[in-house]
Amino acid sequence: MNRLTIYTLFSLFLFTNCNENAAEKSLFSASKSPNTAQNIILLIGDGMGISQITAGMYASDSILNLERFKSIGLQKTDAANHLVTDSAAGATAFATGKKTNNGVVGMDAQLKSAKNIIEYVKEKGLAAGLVATSQIAHATPAAFFAHHPKRAKMENIAAQLLTTDVDLLIGGGQNHFEARKDNRNISKELAQKGYQVNSFMTKSLDKIEPNYKDNFLYFTAASLPLSVEQGRDYLPLATSFSIDFLKKHNSNGFFLMVESSQIDWGGHNNNSDYIIQEMLDFDKVIGRALDFAEADGNTLVIVTSDHETGGYSINYGSSRKKFKTGFTTDYHTAQMVPVFAYGPNEESFMGIYDNTDIFKKMMETFGIEK
Ligand SMILES: [Zn+2]
Repeated sequence: MNRLTIYTLFSLFLFTNCNENAAEKSLFSASKSPNTAQNIILLIGDGMGISQITAGMYASDSILNLERFKSIGLQKTDAANHLVTDSAAGATAFATGKKTNNGVVGMDAQLKSAKNIIEYVKEKGLAAGLVATSQIAHATPAAFFAHHPKRAKMENIAAQLLTTDVDLLIGGGQNHFEARKDNRNISKELAQKGYQVNSFMTKSLDKIEPNYKDNFLYFTAASLPLSVEQGRDYLPLATSFSIDFLKKHNSNGFFLMVESSQIDWGGHNNNSDYIIQEMLDFDKVIGRALDFAEADGNTLVIVTSDHETGGYSINYGSSRKKFKTGFTTDYHTAQMVPVFAYGPNEESFMGIYDNTDIFKKMMETFGIEK
């Protein structure tokens, strides 16, 4: 064989290999750098401690999706100014890597604005989405787009969506956008900025044909979304919808945060059935995310919680499906909470660490330098 023949054969070989299907291509890029991922899905069970998970597990007829994870760790949830955190400080730790005071979203303990993961991924050209079963301007989602010293100022927080570019938003609290003290209509302003805006009042989520070029905003309630007990069933659907939307909206990759907000509310109400139903709904969400990540091969899925709520326990005399439960408080506790990870860099989530390390590990997985 002369040099030219070898060269021709080699080019042919390269050409054939470049034509492999997308799944193999993504495997190839994943094997190049096993610790980075194209997509991260962060699933937050607000108020979900080990007992909440245990209750869901014993109440369920089938094995939970949570039991599919192999890489499991624990994180310390304390806030800057209190051992017992609230959701604002907890979510700010995940979103910005900064411990802050209870009640503060997206700022550090000195009330200096802290750059969040969505601001970082947007700079890298990726897409970002936020989904919740509370209001969009509620503490947990708010910490991922807003910078405000008072979580209760939800109308001000909603208006900050005009300055942070979140590609997809699904949740309640339409009133914070459209029935405001200042008479502004933030939904209209967002529509003018290129958002396709829809609401439960006119269309259910599964009936919407998204315009993939635009950003997407969908309201699931005027104020608070229903509980599962009252018939809410949108969170698993919204999760699949969001993954599909973000992939078609931007092929570079995405960050998606989905919050099951009401496990926490079951804890505040000291209502074990409320906790269990929300927990089982959240587990369906986890299943959707894991199925996608397994097929995709380039997605990291993280499941964790901002804190435990209720000091919930399953006591002596309980049987599967019938629990004798106890609560030590109607507020949050300082217990460590579990972290489950699947996908590229999952091993780094094993061990015991601070809630702020979740941010650092996500940034590392995206390959973003701070
Ligand atoms: Zn709470």
